Amino acid sequence: MSDPRDGRDRQGSALPTFLADGLAGREPGTSVDLAADEVPHLRAARIRRGARLAITDGAGRRWEAELVELGRRGARCRLVRGLPARPPLPVGVWAPVANRDRSLWLLEKVVELGASAVSWIEWDRSRSVGDAGRSAGFRRRAEARARAAMTQSGGSWLPRLRGPVSLLEALAGHEGAGWLADVDGHSPLVGASVPVRLRHRSGEALTIAVGPEGGLTPAERRRCAEAGFEPVSLGRRTLRFETAAVAALAVASAILDNREEIT
Ligand code: SAM
Repeated sequence: MSDPRDGRDRQGSALPTFLADGLAGREPGTSVDLAADEVPHLRAARIRRGARLAITDGAGRRWEAELVELGRRGARCRLVRGLPARPPLPVGVWAPVANRDRSLWLLEKVVELGASAVSWIEWDRSRSVGDAGRSAGFRRRAEARARAAMTQSGGSWLPRLRGPVSLLEALAGHEGAGWLADVDGHSPLVGASVPVRLRHRSGEALTIAVGPEGGLTPAERRRCAEAGFEPVSLGRRTLRFETAAVAALAVASAILDNREEIT
């Protein structure tokens, strides 16, 4: 059962979440400034002085706070009480370098679902997609989209974003279990291995890799298999890469999210 104090108002609705830095070591009653780019969001949501909010630093800290000042360029809150910390979902997603808009959609949805890291992989067949997903502009948009998705979904962990990286580089640093989304794989609901330990020494307990529009090459499938990735199928239909990422993460989070850690 959810904790009744867990960031809800008197009617039981989740408090809207906003980002602020500098939450480490804070005491109730002290003031913090919200991130400057939260001001338009506060205005759009018609939140006024005196309203209760949830605030997070994107590194797991959460507070209930009262909005005490709202100006053109800044907003300040008074911390009311710390909210219970929630562990991050220990799942990372390897997405293909691909079309910009569909890549940002994928990012938004996997952050809502709680992915703790997203890496963009240069699969062999990503090379045909021009510069999409490789520019500094894409990276800025991706960071902004991840922040918005985290606060909108009431999360408290900003995902680590990485890439683009080659498959070899990604595999070299990989630890934990891996699922390779593959129409010819086996169902994740009957027999795909899920990690026993929910925390890994570094990185994620489970990584979900999704191939590019043109599909995976035999050599890429082999390399992933050698690194311990299991081919996992989401049904017989050919899904767009972003659909496959969201579907696989939804299955993994349903299996893992509420599990007790086994050490
Ligand atoms: N023509 C490509 C092929 O035959 O592989 C289609 C690639 S699909 C558009 C892009 C990626 O989504 C695939 O590489 C795979 O990782 C994932 N995918 C698509 N459908 C899937 C399914 N039914 N189950 C698991 N993964 C799937």
